[in-house]
Amino acid sequence: MRLKLHITGLVQGVGFRPFVSRLAEGQGLKGYVLNDTAGVLIEVEGDRQKIREFLSRLEKEKPSLSKIYSMQYAWLEDAGHGHFEIRKSDGTGDKATSILPDIALCSECLMDILNPKNRRFLYPFTNCTNCGPRFTIIKSLPYDRGNTSMADFTMCTACGREYNLPSDRRYHAQPNACPACGPSIALHDRTGNLICVGEEALEKTVNLIRKGNVVALKGLGGYHLLCDAASPDAVETLRSRKQRYEKPMAVMFPDISSVRDEADISSMEEQAITSVERPIVIVRKKASSSIAGTVSPDSNTLGLFLPYTPLHHLLLRKLKKPVVATSANLTDEPIVKDEKDAFARLKDIADYLLTHNRDIVRRCDDSVVRIIAERQVPLRRSRGFAPLPVIVPFRFAAPVLALGASMNSTIALGIENKVYLSQHIGDLDTLRATEYYEETVSDFLRLFDVRPVRVVADMHPGYFSTRFGERRFSGSLVTVQHHHAHLLSCMIENDMPENARVIGYAFDGMGYGTDRTLWGSEVMIASYREAQRRFHLRPFRLPGGDRAVQEPARTALSLLHETLGDRAVQSGISPFTRDEYAFYLKMIRDDINSPLTSGMGRLFDAAASLIGLRHRVSYQAQAAMELEQRAFLSDDRGSYPFILDGGVIDQRPMVEAIISDIGSGVTRETVARRFHNTIVRIIIDTARLLREETGIAHVALSGGVFQNALLLEGAVTGLREQGFTPLIHQLVPPNDGGVALGQAVYGAERV
Ligand code: ZN
Ligand code: ZN
Ligand code: FE
Repeated sequence: MRLKLHITGLVQGVGFRPFVSRLAEGQGLKGYVLNDTAGVLIEVEGDRQKIREFLSRLEKEKPSLSKIYSMQYAWLEDAGHGHFEIRKSDGTGDKATSILPDIALCSECLMDILNPKNRRFLYPFTNCTNCGPRFTIIKSLPYDRGNTSMADFTMCTACGREYNLPSDRRYHAQPNACPACGPSIALHDRTGNLICVGEEALEKTVNLIRKGNVVALKGLGGYHLLCDAASPDAVETLRSRKQRYEKPMAVMFPDISSVRDEADISSMEEQAITSVERPIVIVRKKASSSIAGTVSPDSNTLGLFLPYTPLHHLLLRKLKKPVVATSANLTDEPIVKDEKDAFARLKDIADYLLTHNRDIVRRCDDSVVRIIAERQVPLRRSRGFAPLPVIVPFRFAAPVLALGASMNSTIALGIENKVYLSQHIGDLDTLRATEYYEETVSDFLRLFDVRPVRVVADMHPGYFSTRFGERRFSGSLVTVQHHHAHLLSCMIENDMPENARVIGYAFDGMGYGTDRTLWGSEVMIASYREAQRRFHLRPFRLPGGDRAVQEPARTALSLLHETLGDRAVQSGISPFTRDEYAFYLKMIRDDINSPLTSGMGRLFDAAASLIGLRHRVSYQAQAAMELEQRAFLSDDRGSYPFILDGGVIDQRPMVEAIISDIGSGVTRETVARRFHNTIVRIIIDTARLLREETGIAHVALSGGVFQNALLLEGAVTGLREQGFTPLIHQLVPPNDGGVALGQAVYGAERV
């Protein structure tokens, strides 16, 4: 008998073909295995019982990194195969395959580089079939060395032997390399002069970091800027050169025990930190932490991660202390990935550059996750995850391209039963960022070899992504409302069936509404096809538009005024002088550049300003994050009044109560906590009203505001107590980085 199998999933670049080959030969079967562009194609021929055994062991014993998404097979007549072979990859046909993300160094390779007797001792580009770079080195499919940035390096005899030996861990490891034949590192000063190479460069870099220098290090998906995390001076130098004064920076630790010394981590957090994806995990730092306070100012949390390339491991082991490891870029620009760019753009930021000669084919920033409500919630889904697809419970009749939004942007491709999500592209408000965005769209369409029949963009006419869609894909472009897309992404990753309806909460900073105003506190009844807006905050004005986003005190003034009227100026709450106050008030009254919004994120900003915590921000969501941190310090159970008036959630009674609390000396922590409790109550109360009316008990929580752990946990607990089933994000971020998934699903013609 002959069995023909077609397996799709994570079966390329994980040692699947060698595994199949060993298994088949062990059973005395003949035939072949080949990578096709959609997965793996296998034919085995021989005794029926042996084939059955092959089939059952295939699933049970498959390589640990592989994942089978689907397996179709047919029993056929003999084809007369003479032996079992690994055939050359088939590069034609449907390219909707699973390209693997970059995989952190495995424990066996770590042992190799730490063993003085191993020929890869201290070699920074060590990898094997189970680990190493993938997404960031692939130029085109199929995944073979010739199609990667390793093509320029010819394997030496020893490496070639490993590559061709089925029993070897490096059998068909495409980036296989060693000190004799592979890439190497080099240390340069900021003007580009070569200082030294190899182990000497590593030693020297360690000393330079110890002495307080800032070193740019070429990593997997781009450059990092490194400095001693325990040195306030080094951190200050990096901040002032990068002109990034307050936004928290990530810290890379040598190992998990050094993490435990500095941070209080739960078992789920430890699991996330040590996971093969090696994301940055947001955790609580210990009061005794030796990490400089300026790494994450005004915050008791820290974003930390472990080494994931051999180079990181070697560096951190020699250093024996944590380093700041932040993306090397200028504000709002994409991460630097090649030498030309590095020497041009980092010369005023880094003192030295540790580079290497393996090209980064595409950028990939570090991923960020946070454990909330006992789930791993992605805040940025990039390295380690991209471009893995989200599997959907239907098939796309034809490919759909989703263009994302504008902040934290990502794009997505819906093909077959998968939605492939791009790496983090970032905020689209610089020329370099929009160039990177366009590059990523072209890259995805070429890599996956598809022509989208439908392209989905946000409804916002001003978003770069929307205008790009109109320019490039005018005939096939459809738009979807921002908050509906948020809810769709949450519904699909929770496997909600096609005819499902949910009560959806899409809370974010702002998104374009169907009435052409800025929304952002949407309570909706949503299905895959449509969304009805049922509740939202009472709209308020933002004096100065975007300037008010930078300056929460302006939004606070607006809310103060609409709550207290002319008494507001006497309340003494606003940090503005009387003249400034009068000026902004006139802007509001005369409707000069003062758009209306109902964004929940803006209400959090305003609350942070009202309690005197933060009147001006230097990065996105700063005020809201600080408000959350304060609220965590209180366990007050009180909340403030609000009025549900038709579809409007009138926040004015809450603003009034906050002012009264502040006036009577209630602590900031308590007010911050009561504010959070109030938003949770708004969610519960409106959900109950909508359930009474519709009978719907599934509640989707999406939008950037739900990155707030106190709010999300409060909402999940409260909803469960009331018998609801809350749906939260675990595959894509609740922020705009997840919108592309919802857009792709919206654009799908389902089969
Ligand atoms: Zn390995
Ligand atoms: Zn070699
Ligand atoms: Fe949003």
